[in-house]
Amino acid sequence: MAVTKLHVLPAGRCGVAASMLDMTRPDHSLVNLPVWCYLLETTDGPILIDTGMPDHCVSHPDLFASPGEEPSIVPHMDPEDGIVPILARAGYTPRDVACVVSTHRHFDHAGGNRHFGEVELILQQLEYDAMVADLEAPDAFDFWSSPDLRYRLIQGDYALAPGIKLLFTPGHSVGHQSVLVETPTTGSVLLTIDAAYQAANYEEGIPFAVADAQKAQASIAKLRSIAQSEKSYVFFGHDIRQERTVKPYPAFY
Ligand SMILES: [Zn+2]
Repeated sequence: MAVTKLHVLPAGRCGVAASMLDMTRPDHSLVNLPVWCYLLETTDGPILIDTGMPDHCVSHPDLFASPGEEPSIVPHMDPEDGIVPILARAGYTPRDVACVVSTHRHFDHAGGNRHFGEVELILQQLEYDAMVADLEAPDAFDFWSSPDLRYRLIQGDYALAPGIKLLFTPGHSVGHQSVLVETPTTGSVLLTIDAAYQAANYEEGIPFAVADAQKAQASIAKLRSIAQSEKSYVFFGHDIRQERTVKPYPAFY
């Protein structure tokens, strides 16, 4: 098996409080961030990384609003930003993908997981355990928890296939994983996912919204060291400056 292309798939946008991107700033105005999924074309079929936001965000931009408070997360999603129409534009249905890498359980990454009942979703064990615990909350989201979903649970760094390595990067969430890909066109590409929202988090250590700050910093240090030795192109989770240079589908890396 070999990776032939890495596509970046735009999957809607999300307003996020500036203070979540840089916790040193008490600025709660919303920054309009891109949401991405990634499609790896391989000689053994396509592999999807993340499934975007849940379809019900289309009609519920107020999903995270609570009475009397300004929401710090406001999803902006049109019907065509759902993972099923996104994949259809690439010529696939959910059952065509070889597997899904689910990086973490947040709504803008695992929102479309329930469409993938016929393939394996690869997730860290710790993240799965946290998802199960989340379900006990009264306002729990269940977009990842249909009984027909098949999660393949892994622990730690994991070589998924030649040229695709999943890197355990806890901190932003308890069992977060990033992805290191080797492509014929670009060479090594590191998808930090939300181990770093933006370049400033990664390069300058600017603290951002994480579950565990110490682990998040250690994960960034791990990624920096890997990117340095692999000479990787580093793609951040939600970087509006980097977005200007991104080549979305049908272009590829
Ligand atoms: Zn995210």
